Amino acid sequence: MRLFEAILDANHRAAAGDKSAGVRVAEFADSLPVVALTCIDPRLNPLMPEVLGLPEENFIWLRNAGNIITGSMSSTIRSLALACVVKGGKEIAVIGHSDCRAGQTTVLQLTERFAALGVGRAKLPDNLVEFFGVFASERQNVLKAVEFIRHSPIIGPKVPVHGLLVDIQTGRLEWLVNGYQALDAAAAHFAEAIHVQDPTMQAAFASPEPDGSEKKPVETKVGEPEPVTGWSVKDAKVIEMHAPEAPPKVRLVDEKPAHAPAPKRPPVISPFRNRTRRNS
Ligand SMILES: [Zn+2]
Repeated sequence: MRLFEAILDANHRAAAGDKSAGVRVAEFADSLPVVALTCIDPRLNPLMPEVLGLPEENFIWLRNAGNIITGSMSSTIRSLALACVVKGGKEIAVIGHSDCRAGQTTVLQLTERFAALGVGRAKLPDNLVEFFGVFASERQNVLKAVEFIRHSPIIGPKVPVHGLLVDIQTGRLEWLVNGYQALDAAAAHFAEAIHVQDPTMQAAFASPEPDGSEKKPVETKVGEPEPVTGWSVKDAKVIEMHAPEAPPKVRLVDEKPAHAPAPKRPPVISPFRNRTRRNS
């Protein structure tokens, strides 16, 4: 079982009332910490990272209004990349939430509210939807963000990128994009591409250095120009060329029945808090 499989399993069991549900963090040390992008909505404050069953020290939390990503080299993607490179993040998750106001505010409302703050229409960009990335569907917004991250040249092809939705009332997670599947598919396409199209690439992978030693990482500091190395860049491009157009979408749970009453408090918080491996 991989990390997010365990997270979803524990979350769903906890949401169903299983008080013993939790993630055995020590078993997933190689997949931690997780880098998460969520909305700025304060209602998420008590939910994260408890609904994931992760301790705070394994949860790198990035936030922006609407968990919106506007391009594959946007400032949010730069932060995600540094979270992996500088802080050792192993997996990325975009976690949208139900009832997101960033997705419910119309262009007219935006214009009116900016005007109330003294920002006239003439000072705003022509295309407010494009500039602010406002969206109509929380689901589509997560899928779009995952797509931008997955295809960003500065996010390594080895980092799984997941897409999730959290129910802000119940804390229940829905797994929209399984980052492992997208990665497995890309790796399979990559291996096939090497085999069929470019036999010299196989030799490059079999023995990256002429003397047979392992490739050594180039020492650089953040903020300095980084020398471009050979096949790692090519590697990323080949994967991008052969990656599936859209990551597989995994629907793990059905929609909650309309008649189901919403609990007053998220029930999944306490079972997850600071859970450590049990001695059983
Ligand atoms: Zn929101």
